[in-house]
Amino acid sequence: MNGRPPPVTRFAPSPNGPLHLGHALSAIVAHDLAQAGGGRFLLRIEDIDGPRSRPDLADEFRRDLEWLGLEWEEVPAQSTRLATYAAAAEALKECGLLYPCTCTRKEIEAAGASEGTDGLIYPGTCKRTGPDPARPAAWRLDTEKALAEVGPLTWEDDLAGTIPVDLGGLGDVVLVRKDLPASYHLAVTLDDAADGVTLVTRGADLFAPSHVHRTLQALFGLPVPRWHHHALLTDDSGQKLAKRRGSPALAERRQAGEDGRMLAEQLRLRHLRLGT
Ligand code: GLU
Ligand code: ZN
Repeated sequence: MNGRPPPVTRFAPSPNGPLHLGHALSAIVAHDLAQAGGGRFLLRIEDIDGPRSRPDLADEFRRDLEWLGLEWEEVPAQSTRLATYAAAAEALKECGLLYPCTCTRKEIEAAGASEGTDGLIYPGTCKRTGPDPARPAAWRLDTEKALAEVGPLTWEDDLAGTIPVDLGGLGDVVLVRKDLPASYHLAVTLDDAADGVTLVTRGADLFAPSHVHRTLQALFGLPVPRWHHHALLTDDSGQKLAKRRGSPALAERRQAGEDGRMLAEQLRLRHLRLGT
């Protein structure tokens, strides 16, 4: 034991497409860390991804997790929490920490946006010139103002250690989408706090967004969890596994009669070899 209270971890899939091996690994890591520390493992369906969200997939996800031999507690899906997100966004707007942006992706590209750690860095067009009042607006975090408000911050990752918050690679991220009262960043930060998550586990591909989430925790005065960004699975050639390259969905493997618990054991071994 390391003297820490039992961790609360979670697996938070978006029902936009079937789960793959990478998802299975994330779920297993979260599950096993909770179990090893005598804590709790939560499942949260992140179903606010607009038209791409397919609620029918959530049931498939539950079957996949069961097939892998995992047990979990399910907490409310994001679609039940839209009012909470809207209220939190309002509070930030009242503090002048958000600004409306009507840019399209094309306009952002055309404005010469540079590539950051998680996509293009917004070049600040609407902050300088104001949004186009005739078009629907998203709301972006004014990161300069936000950081001035909360001062220097750090966050703790189990593997990477103490990380100073640096929003330079992300820029003024969207917190309220044009079509939804939240973006991933806002929803996931509020949900992890509401669900009492103390150890945020997810793949290293979601490392950079944690800078934003830590900033939001400071702005809202939320409890600060630890993070555990696990290394991503790679194929034999060392390439990141991606569904595009034909890794079969868990549901397909399950329906083909493969042994899910055995697969989970194999993933645990691969994970050990990745060192994280
Ligand atoms: N819903 C996100 C996804 O499926 C993951 C959120 C998270 O783990 O923070 O990519
Ligand atoms: Zn804009």
